[in-house]
Amino acid sequence: MRSNVLDYNLIAPPTLDAALALLSEGAHTPIAGGTELMVALNTGRLQQRSLLSIQHLQELRFIHVDDTAIHIGAGSTFTDIRNHPEIARDLPLLIQSASWTGTIANQNRATLGGNLCNASPAADTPPALLCYSASVTLVSSTGSRTLPYPDFHLSYKSTALRPDELLHSVTVPRPPANARQSIRKVGTRNALAISKVALAGLAVVEDSRLRHIRLGAASLADRPLRLVATEAALQGHSLAPAHLDATLRWARAALAAEIHPIDDIRSTAAYRRAVAANLLEDLLRSLAS
Ligand SMILES: Cc1cc2nc3c(=O)[nH]c(=O)nc-3n(C[C@H](O)[C@H](O)[C@H](O)COP(=O)(O)OP(=O)(O)OC[C@H]3O[C@@H](n4cnc5c(N)ncnc54)[C@H](O)[C@@H]3O)c2cc1C
Repeated sequence: MRSNVLDYNLIAPPTLDAALALLSEGAHTPIAGGTELMVALNTGRLQQRSLLSIQHLQELRFIHVDDTAIHIGAGSTFTDIRNHPEIARDLPLLIQSASWTGTIANQNRATLGGNLCNASPAADTPPALLCYSASVTLVSSTGSRTLPYPDFHLSYKSTALRPDELLHSVTVPRPPANARQSIRKVGTRNALAISKVALAGLAVVEDSRLRHIRLGAASLADRPLRLVATEAALQGHSLAPAHLDATLRWARAALAAEIHPIDDIRSTAAYRRAVAANLLEDLLRSLAS
């Protein structure tokens, strides 16, 4: 049943400090672009009655670049990200995943912070950020803390955020200049579809051997998953023609042991397992070529 908006209260504090002070005092739910929360409200699933708007807070909407990293405010929209030249140059996996997130109208409102804090295992940007070894900074009225991004996702739709905290920003180290990068998403359609499976990969290939390989996946576990065991199994393996088949078999076995896909309305666990293995093989073949 649709909700009655009169049952909800919306506060729009003028500054980040004011927002954090309100969060420290009681139960408010932050709302940024609202593209997740308004769907929940419209379908009568939004339990929280007090919404704290953070969409207009310029302190959360920035993209800073320095020599080693790109710092993206949680309030940056997908359009902000897609239009940023240095992100386009250094972080093509993030650009690609931002371009997959809903429609253009959606990308004009939806924020990176909302995508991560909503914590769907099928969300589009986490696989790229897992590959890039990103970190996240959380703020509260008492200070801030920075976590490796994989530690942010605790379980299904659960994050390390405390009720008095906001996600402030995401820091993405610049990948090695010689890194090769690739991302694939499999969904019902090419556009406007939540992923059944997605896989992002980044690696340096030296003398045909895999170095510094990073793999991030969507919809293969209860949370966005960095495939650390598969990465470890592949480090140093050869992509030379004489060894490629053996490396691919090894990769498929390592992946099968690491992932825990589920059956749900979008797909089956068996389909996700099969597609994930094919995506990994495609990724390794593209790195080899
Ligand atoms: C038509 C449509 C298509 C979509 N397609 C896709 C898609 O293809 N891929 C995909 O990944 N998503 C998709 N989405 C989901 C959604 O657009 C994204 O997840 C978006 O990034 C959410 O951002 P938002 O700013 O709108 O979040 P909101 O709805 O404002 O918030 C989402 C959650 O994050 C919390 N939150 C937001 N910002 C912060 C912060 N800074 N600190 C702490 N908590 C915060 C909120 O409290 C809430 O729990 C789609 C949605 C719609 C309506």
